[in-house]
Amino acid sequence: MYSTKAAGAADQDRARIWDPLHECMDREELELLQLTRLRSTLERVYRDVPCYRRKFDAAGVRPGNVKSLDDLAQLPFTTKDDLRESYPYGMFAVPLREVVRIHSSSGTTGKPTVVGYTRADLQNWTELAARFMTAAGVTEDDIVHIAFGYGLFTGAFGLHYGAERIGASVIPMSSGNTDKQIMIMQDYRSTALVCTPSYALTVADRMEKLGLDPHSLSLRVGLFGAEPWTEEMRREIEQRLGLIATDNYGLSEVMGPGVAGECLQRGGMHIFEDHFIPEIIDPDSGEVLPAGEVGELVLTCVTKEAFPMIRYRTRDITRLDYSRCACGRTHARIAKTMGRSDDMLIIKGVNVFPTQIEEVLFQVEGCEPHYQLVVDKVGAMDVLEVQVEVNERIFFDEMKKQRAFVDALEKKLASTLGVGARVKLVEPSSITRHEGKAQRVIDRRTR
Ligand SMILES: [Zn+2]
Repeated sequence: MYSTKAAGAADQDRARIWDPLHECMDREELELLQLTRLRSTLERVYRDVPCYRRKFDAAGVRPGNVKSLDDLAQLPFTTKDDLRESYPYGMFAVPLREVVRIHSSSGTTGKPTVVGYTRADLQNWTELAARFMTAAGVTEDDIVHIAFGYGLFTGAFGLHYGAERIGASVIPMSSGNTDKQIMIMQDYRSTALVCTPSYALTVADRMEKLGLDPHSLSLRVGLFGAEPWTEEMRREIEQRLGLIATDNYGLSEVMGPGVAGECLQRGGMHIFEDHFIPEIIDPDSGEVLPAGEVGELVLTCVTKEAFPMIRYRTRDITRLDYSRCACGRTHARIAKTMGRSDDMLIIKGVNVFPTQIEEVLFQVEGCEPHYQLVVDKVGAMDVLEVQVEVNERIFFDEMKKQRAFVDALEKKLASTLGVGARVKLVEPSSITRHEGKAQRVIDRRTR
């Protein structure tokens, strides 16, 4: 463990940086390192991965053409379809005998994507998980309760090894059985909770239902990821569970959790640029957008051995911030993801993200943080229905008051989204709870 003097000794937690040599590198030095690593990765994938060789040839580019980081934009994108076509091992850049771990991404359609790691890949992953967990304030004194499912999904394993690397005590709880999770958190005095943000609220709900005070737990910090969430949801989780809620980012195709994570300044997630080169593109035209603009995040791995992604289209919508962070880290920050370009709903021609609706619901007194969106077509018209749980007082209120509540909510949604939505109030606890990622959208339109 190392503390930078520059970051100020006043706040010890804030000053903790796991790998200051890399996390606080000068931009110039960092870019040189990126370019060197990029060029060697490109040579390797061109030589060893037929899919890349085919795509580079079709685009008329050779690894040798990449002489600066700007030249990255000449290379073709890699998409989920490329991974599906290469199922299972076609994109691996090393022989299987060098692969020591296999994971897969949570495929919602078709076959899941298979990803592999060499020994060195696992070491890097562990280091990067230790980086972001340290940035979130986890130390060797913490008891880290991991409520992500252990299995093919990368979430649990990534944070598990990161926490062990830091020297924290890890509870590999896995997902499910909320009552047991609560008992273990109480008895083992878990101080750090790892799960999806929606599951954190499920835990709070369940405790309140059981007549237990979530603040009686020893939880101090939450490391929440694997689904997009809003600042409003953050405030709600912090208030109800009495912890500091931090965001982190990763995806199996690129590595897993540990691609980026928030420091305690919480002004975006530092993306570990010595391992990943980020770009923001216009999701329609594929054009690279200037720094600061909102678009789709594209990532290039420059240290991965087994499964190096080149210009992988993540589908996550965010923006990059290269301004200096007060924590002392020099790596750029990505804003909380607004959602996936796949989740973006087009309602009467207007782009709507579920997170925008969530933001509105969190601002309205009486709405519970559980909702579902149902999109349908009535004639030729798209209709968006927002089903929202409300507390019993509102649900059983007289008709006139309930109508006023719905009207106010519909008005607020229309002004935020730029398109109208119907609101349907539902009883508390009537929307299905998911232990993994929340399923927010039911789209009944035939496409
Ligand atoms: Zn920072």
